[in-house]
Amino acid sequence: MSIHNIMEEIVLEVLVKYKGSLQLTCECERCLDDIRAIALNKLPPRYIVQMEHRPYVRAPYTADRQGVTNIMSIVTQAAGIVSKSPRCGEDA
Ligand SMILES: [Zn+2]
Repeated sequence: MSIHNIMEEIVLEVLVKYKGSLQLTCECERCLDDIRAIALNKLPPRYIVQMEHRPYVRAPYTADRQGVTNIMSIVTQAAGIVSKSPRCGEDA
């Protein structure tokens, strides 16, 4: 069995859904990954083992208005940081 960080999929969903309103200066894969990493470092991980627990773990972040707003604001902050200085132009 493996463990899953439900927060990872929630952040990805929020990013995909609201990408258009984040005023990103670049939407390449590298920049989107950077946004996800920055946001995930600021959010608590929510690990689960059994996927049937997924809806209960997700609910406070996806069904609750306050939870959704909180994740949105963190993703928006992360988008702002990456948009200001995108890393994708640099040689890795
Ligand atoms: Zn980029």
